[in-house]
Amino acid sequence: MIMTANNPSISFRLQQELAEAEAALSRKRMELREASEKHATGLTDAVSMGNIETEKVSIVLEITTISGNIANLRSAISRMASGTYGKCLRCGTGIANKRLLAIPTAALCRPCQETLESLPNQ
Ligand SMILES: [Zn+2]
Repeated sequence: MIMTANNPSISFRLQQELAEAEAALSRKRMELREASEKHATGLTDAVSMGNIETEKVSIVLEITTISGNIANLRSAISRMASGTYGKCLRCGTGIANKRLLAIPTAALCRPCQETLESLPNQ
């Protein structure tokens, strides 16, 4: 029996984290647009141009991270809706409550996660 799967506080937490991540994503997209506009005005010297490029790269990296979080959160929320939340996607075993409380988006049990992490990157 997987108690955490029906835990409303986890569901609430996922929804809240999703809302926060989406807000952060639109802020970052706006920052990226502003950086691109600064670039487009052509009034900047080479040094500030370089700074803008560096800034853009770091914003893009942040956007990538946030988008990944959003995907994980959405997938956890949809697993919750379909009743498969809390079950390992790989072996089907119930994921430990402690693990879900620490990582609400966990889709794998710890042994499967560790197995995957020990595999060489493709
Ligand atoms: Zn597993």
